[in-house]
Amino acid sequence: MTAHENCPACATTGDETKVLDCAVCRGEGRVASKRRTFKIRVPAGIRNGQKIRLKEFGAPGKHGGAPGDLYVTVHVTD
Ligand SMILES: [Zn+2]
Repeated sequence: MTAHENCPACATTGDETKVLDCAVCRGEGRVASKRRTFKIRVPAGIRNGQKIRLKEFGAPGKHGGAPGDLYVTVHVTD
């Protein structure tokens, strides 16, 4: 998972032409701030399109609270 935040070099200016010319984010206005890798266990027998809940894998609360749950949709390919 990659978290994004506003580009520190250009997003604060509010000037769109500056965003497009920005070398830091390449015109996206956002940069990757954090990357996290999770190892999860997918329940057996899950079908394509089903949603599973991963307890406490979500982002921490805005005010430093406990992490929430992360919901993911499973796409099964064979
Ligand atoms: Zn930028």
